[in-house]
Amino acid sequence: MSKTKTCPKCKVDQLYEFFHRKSGSKDGMQSWCHECTRESVLVWQRKNPRKALLHNAKGRAKKAGLPFELTVHVLNWPSHCPVLGIPLIYGGERGRQHAQSASLDRVIPHLGYTATNVRVISWRANSIKGDAEAYELHKVAEYATRCEEEGDEGGK
Ligand SMILES: [Zn+2]
Repeated sequence: MSKTKTCPKCKVDQLYEFFHRKSGSKDGMQSWCHECTRESVLVWQRKNPRKALLHNAKGRAKKAGLPFELTVHVLNWPSHCPVLGIPLIYGGERGRQHAQSASLDRVIPHLGYTATNVRVISWRANSIKGDAEAYELHKVAEYATRCEEEGDEGGK
């Protein structure tokens, strides 16, 4: 027989496989089931969009071995993307980024997440920039302009 445990949040008796592992806890599992944990994370992210952005970035920094020294207070949180001028959205659902979602741009990527190296810009601008250098972006912009002009010519 498989072992079960009752989730104190939803009060449902569930199989152990419905809980995440958590080293250091009494039974080696988290107390809340998957679903309740996921739900509480989403609620927290919706209520604390800025902290959630930093929290996710902290995870990326750790993975990449980059410095992370950010707090909500050391960053500027503009209402509009300083690159594209579009209004920024804070607190979009995780994994559902759209053009206007606020994102953290590392000015010089390898310097990591420090107050002087991070700016808040739209996800759109950030994804266009990617890890490109300024001179590369200029070349891409020139190319895109040329293509548009040629497209116009052809349409005439
Ligand atoms: Zn539950």
